[in-house]
Amino acid sequence: MNIHEYQAKAVLAKYGVPVAKGIPAFTAEEAVKAAKELGGPIWVVKAQIHAGGRGKAGGVKVVKSIEEVEAEAKRMLGLTLVTHQTGPEGKEVKRLYIEDGSAIERELYLSCLVDRATGRVAFIASTEGGMDIEEVAAKTPEKILTFSVDPASGVSGFHGRRIAFALGLKGDQVKQCTALIRNLYTAFVDADMSMLEINPLIVNKDGDLLCLDAKINFDSNALYRHADIVELRDLDEEDPSEIEASKYDLNYVKLDGTIGCMVNGAGLAMATMDIIKLYGEEPANFLDVGGGATKEKVTAAFKIILSDPNVNGILVNIFGGIMRCDIIAEGVVAAAKEVSLNVPLVVRLEGTNVDLGKKIMAESGLPIISADNLADAADKITKAVKEAA
Ligand code: ADP
Ligand code: MG
Repeated sequence: MNIHEYQAKAVLAKYGVPVAKGIPAFTAEEAVKAAKELGGPIWVVKAQIHAGGRGKAGGVKVVKSIEEVEAEAKRMLGLTLVTHQTGPEGKEVKRLYIEDGSAIERELYLSCLVDRATGRVAFIASTEGGMDIEEVAAKTPEKILTFSVDPASGVSGFHGRRIAFALGLKGDQVKQCTALIRNLYTAFVDADMSMLEINPLIVNKDGDLLCLDAKINFDSNALYRHADIVELRDLDEEDPSEIEASKYDLNYVKLDGTIGCMVNGAGLAMATMDIIKLYGEEPANFLDVGGGATKEKVTAAFKIILSDPNVNGILVNIFGGIMRCDIIAEGVVAAAKEVSLNVPLVVRLEGTNVDLGKKIMAESGLPIISADNLADAADKITKAVKEAA
């Protein structure tokens, strides 16, 4: 789960991480009020969307008067901001963050994530702040320091000093850096984050470290133990069909293709997407209905798939193990009737009671195309879609 920059900074501030003073605003009036409260003389008006690259897209403006705060707030609110992270459709700005303007001496990069290779929390630091870290990694990888922290001993002064040295920090900044690394690590582990990015971390004109941007991603599987964090969820930033899917415990990710997929098990879902591509079409989604694919779940899944206007065919690929194929077939038939299916539907069932399942589908009176194996299913759905076009 992602949260906004202003929320991320509030979370980090609780752990003693230095951030600039700021106030969120939902209207231009609130922005003016916030600016007056902060006092200036320099303010930054920042669009709050769940994507980076706002600065280059006009979503971060440094201003020197309350009038300018108001003008920028009016310009940004309701604007569809297109950054390199939003995709071409962009994201509408509905919230702003009015922040104290900092005098920047140096912009640095710092992030923390779960390194899957080592199974540990890793830090990434670079002197090249404010830039795309992917670009730095590609062009000047020697400017990036990465290491992981042993969970048994945790973070120590040594880690902080190592980063301070790599970032060229001096004197009291080294002390600030070791405290920062300690606090970020504690926040990361404590709040079950999966990614924490400070870009830029700055050295200001007074020589102090300050986090000027903050991006946090939380491990969704651990949200049950963080009611306070769940409250920060902004549904406006999420895909409506993904929100609907999460209500039914369906693992759904919308994609750009035209073949809707309904599969049980993430591995089988990946294989199904692969074979659709192999047969020349593109999957419209990833959808894992999970082990207990009930009729209700299957119906909800059908509705979500069909709500995507790009879908012109559906491939159901279910392995009946614990769940019997005849039960699944009944679910598919009932769901197809309920949603008045208007695109070709290919169903491939395998496993317990598969013959009975096929019989139920054949006798349903619905134009369900039955397939015998994965390749046959991919062949049939791609052909059916072409014929229907
Ligand atoms: P994004 O990463 O989405 O572009 P940032 O918050 O990193 O947004 O802001 C982009 C740039 O704007 C920063 O690299 C920094 O140079 C400047 N900036 C952001 N916040 C402030 C601030 N409070 N004071 C001064 N400059 C800022
Ligand atoms: Mg940034």
